[in-house]
Amino acid sequence: MTSRKLLLVGIDGLRLDDALRPGVAPRFASFVHNGTLHPMTMEVPTISGPGWSSILTGSTHADHSVVDNSFHGHTLHCNADILSRAFYADQSRTTFAATGWPPIADPAGPGPIVSTRLDQQRAGRHRLVVRDGETYGYRWADGEIAAFSRLALREAGPDASFVYLGEVDEAGHLHGGASREYEEAIARVDAHLGILLDAVGARASLHDEDWLVGITTDHGHLDEGGHGGGDAVLTRSFLALSRFGGAQEAQRSGPQEPPAPAPREIRPDEVAGLLLAHLG
Ligand SMILES: [Zn+2]
Repeated sequence: MTSRKLLLVGIDGLRLDDALRPGVAPRFASFVHNGTLHPMTMEVPTISGPGWSSILTGSTHADHSVVDNSFHGHTLHCNADILSRAFYADQSRTTFAATGWPPIADPAGPGPIVSTRLDQQRAGRHRLVVRDGETYGYRWADGEIAAFSRLALREAGPDASFVYLGEVDEAGHLHGGASREYEEAIARVDAHLGILLDAVGARASLHDEDWLVGITTDHGHLDEGGHGGGDAVLTRSFLALSRFGGAQEAQRSGPQEPPAPAPREIRPDEVAGLLLAHLG
């Protein structure tokens, strides 16, 4: 039986319109063009801590109580992350997360959103790669994360993975969401995305696997830089989905199907469930 796997790529602080501008992010644009693009609106405050907590745990700000990046008073222990849910639904599954923003997965805190699950790490069923982009910069951190993830995805092929890339958000804070530097950061992150997609594509055809890949963001950026409020440019997010592997080939060569309806708008707390449904 074809095994099913999922990968979610999180690009922090990405303005969809800028990413889809011709020539800026060719891999992302082609992914969106060939897949499904669900519109999604983030809750206020549009801050990374609450945003990624909602997306990764399938819960709302009221559920996880993460209101800022301090994570003070959070109830993440009551809201299992997508990788933990994949594992506890079937304890033969393997999981992987890689991030340059430590609160996603660093057990030293704050957070983390993705559970450490030391027992599964010792058993080789859960792997975490954390770099500190806050201290050392995200251009470096994203490069490390992409390189590690490429190997992990291609060689180990975890059943459920999350990869976080942070340079777009960093450029937004330093130069603004309307800057040339912001666009250049999108281009560099797009190259990392291409490395991940190539690894998944190669693995899926080599091992006859059926991968569902999702790409999303936690908020946008003001033209002058910054986020947190309720402006449309900040709350606008999306979930782009595409299949890699046998199912995709079958779909393309299969009988004529009626055109798919326009993708429905989804909530951030629906992302984890939508992806996990692919694993069965
Ligand atoms: Zn963010």
